[in-house]
Amino acid sequence: MKNDMKEILLTEEQIQEKIKELGHTITEEYKDRFPLFVGVLKGALPFMADLVKSVDTHLEMDFMDVSSYGKSMVSSGEVKIVKDLDTKVEGRDVLIVEDIIDSGLTLSYLIELFKYRKAKSVKVVTLLDKPEGRKVDLVPDLTGFIVPDEFVVGYGLDFAERYRNLPYVGILKPEVYEG
Ligand code: 5GP
Ligand code: MG
Ligand code: MG
Repeated sequence: MKNDMKEILLTEEQIQEKIKELGHTITEEYKDRFPLFVGVLKGALPFMADLVKSVDTHLEMDFMDVSSYGKSMVSSGEVKIVKDLDTKVEGRDVLIVEDIIDSGLTLSYLIELFKYRKAKSVKVVTLLDKPEGRKVDLVPDLTGFIVPDEFVVGYGLDFAERYRNLPYVGILKPEVYEG
């Protein structure tokens, strides 16, 4: 799969080191609050799995699947709930765990939804942020890395459902997605 990469943006080591730092910060902030970590499927799965292992306080995990992209690489602006939470968010300290924030449309929808459902607090941790892609005013509470406004894959992020299992993040060679 490495042959498909034009460039590796973040190595496995860089990602894992950053996640440990994020885990410490989150541990301090959420100690004894039994936060609800909400992973946004499917992209946030590897990040969620590694992040929770570096958080040293009790927490609960749940997942949502929302779609705004479909199979296309461009955000449609529409957000659809494909799978909702099994957990009640009322009164809970919710931490949304995202792979990447681009337009911010998915996340602003989720933040509003959890506020409407009376969460005690709603915060966002994202592994990657592409601030240049933003269409709504949204700044994550915690960010792993800022990335350029390019289509990235790996560590949860897919192209047509592939590359999610890479331990690093990279940019595909144009010929890979041009067919
Ligand atoms: P947003 O709503 O912020 O535009 O993006 C939401 C979702 O689009 C992200 O959670 C991610 O699943 C997908 N996405 C955004 N940018 C990229 C990218 O560069 N690569 C991949 N593979 N997915 C992206
Ligand atoms: Mg996502
Ligand atoms: Mg995708």
